[in-house]
Amino acid sequence: MRLVGNDSAAELYAQNQARTCGEVGIEYRLHRLPEGSGFEEVAGRVLLLNEDESVRAIMVHLPLPTGVDVERVQSLIAPDKDVEGVNPANIGNVVYGRRSLVPCTARAVVELVEASGVTLRGAHCVVVGASNIVGKPVAVLLMRAEATVTSGNKFTRDMAAIARTADVLVVAAGVQHLVKADWIKPGAVVIDVGIHRKLDASGVTTTSGDVDFEAVRQVAGFITPVPGGVGPMTVAMLLRNVADACLR
Ligand code: NAD
Repeated sequence: MRLVGNDSAAELYAQNQARTCGEVGIEYRLHRLPEGSGFEEVAGRVLLLNEDESVRAIMVHLPLPTGVDVERVQSLIAPDKDVEGVNPANIGNVVYGRRSLVPCTARAVVELVEASGVTLRGAHCVVVGASNIVGKPVAVLLMRAEATVTSGNKFTRDMAAIARTADVLVVAAGVQHLVKADWIKPGAVVIDVGIHRKLDASGVTTTSGDVDFEAVRQVAGFITPVPGGVGPMTVAMLLRNVADACLR
């Protein structure tokens, strides 16, 4: 695992990973590169770790320094060590339904949907947000479960009306409290992927999601909170991917 620079969210994520790996007996090594490292340094480290047989799993912490092409770096990670599932080869395998390391947030979302007990085959699933790392792989995984899937993005007209038809609503738009109670079909499953951290004047940090949790929980049949929902499940899925990568 590697980290460039001093981003505080990445530092926190790395600390959580190190602690969780320690708890389950996975050896975790954080490779720090100096602030201002260029593509050659980042790519070189990834290629070295690809070749190192003692390394089973690689993830690159974001953000990378300005000017370093994230997708180019991600596509260099050996697909069988790519435990975040960010190499396009792994995303392609997800589309084809082949055995592969699935992007861990998308895997976490589907685990949570399944835990609700909803029958996905024939259900209408609406995914708000269509990024490469969350929205698109979630939509593909739900399609693989033979749900009827609608993908929305910031240009979608009347997202709320579409959301109201959803048996399962997954929200990954990155817009705090975008989804209100009147977006929800009564009894629907609502999965909130968004993460928004705010530091108030007294120095207290609060975390919330893309869903107005208190209002929506009155209407939904099942809802995941932020914090405490998709976030910890994503870490669990990352570790599951590490175990899968080792077993191969
Ligand atoms: P992104 O910015 O890459 O993509 C956002 C997507 O949402 C885009 O497709 C955009 O068109 C769409 N969108 C934006 N506003 C919209 C609107 N009003 N209506 C409909 N669609 C809209 O974001 P991302 O990387 O997919 O992340 C989304 C959120 O999920 C962020 O809050 C991020 O912090 C969080 N996230 C959480 C985890 C986790 O493990 N819990 C992992 C990754 C991202």
